[in-house]
Amino acid sequence: MKLNRIASLFALAGLATGCGGALISNQQEKQIGAGVDEQIEKEYRILAASDPVSKWAVDFVKPFSNASKAFRPPSEFGGYKVEVIADDALVNAFAAPGGYVYISTGLIKAADDCAEIAGVMGHELAHVTERHSARQLEKAFAAQLVSDFFLEDGLTKTAAETIFGFLQATKFSRDHEREADAVGLQISHDAGYDPDGLARFFQKLLKQGGSPPEFLSSHPATDDRIKDVRAAIKKRYGSKPGGSKSCRTSMKLPQIKAHLSGGKSRTTTRKKVSLKWLREREAHARR
Ligand SMILES: [Zn+2]
Repeated sequence: MKLNRIASLFALAGLATGCGGALISNQQEKQIGAGVDEQIEKEYRILAASDPVSKWAVDFVKPFSNASKAFRPPSEFGGYKVEVIADDALVNAFAAPGGYVYISTGLIKAADDCAEIAGVMGHELAHVTERHSARQLEKAFAAQLVSDFFLEDGLTKTAAETIFGFLQATKFSRDHEREADAVGLQISHDAGYDPDGLARFFQKLLKQGGSPPEFLSSHPATDDRIKDVRAAIKKRYGSKPGGSKSCRTSMKLPQIKAHLSGGKSRTTTRKKVSLKWLREREAHARR
């Protein structure tokens, strides 16, 4: 990502005067998601759609899609698209605008039960239902620049790289994190899972010590945050919120982990392209 370009975009954004309403339409949010997805597929190894764990992930997200309707109908952005990143060292999940959701094999392996994965999934989908990334983009970029991002049928190539770089470099605010926790626990509960999964997952990662896993660095967990999540669960559902700890899918967590450890995972044939290579290619094209 070209930092000087980001800096100049921010400078221009500073000139923007306040304007009400959403700058980025649902259709544009979908296009942004597709552009970011292309960048992600260049940077990460993704499990092939035919891999059993990819199929499981698609199954797993179905009840979440229904449960999140109360906050924002997924039809607004064409439904959720879930992919599994094949990286055991990465403990992370993230959501891009337009309902693109990614979960790493490292996170699946770190989870002790499916309610923990469900907690993370609910939280990530809440970032989409509440339009957190879209709102960050609206705040950072001037209206004219936002409209310049789009061609008739999608993002310009430069815009896709700029937005991806921006989203990678920008953390969610504390307020957005809090909102994603509150909405996410309702989504995971309504999807049929024990909503305490998110708190337990945070707690476990915190206890591990050492350098924090990526999920914590992009979604900082503190004892206060865990307390807030538990207080919200108690207030909403009482001391026995119920919900499943095991996966509500035909493939259960032990089978999923066994498949991931069995060395038979199929990944996309797309070559891993480093961002450095992309930068150099871009520089070359500009000469
Ligand atoms: Zn978050």
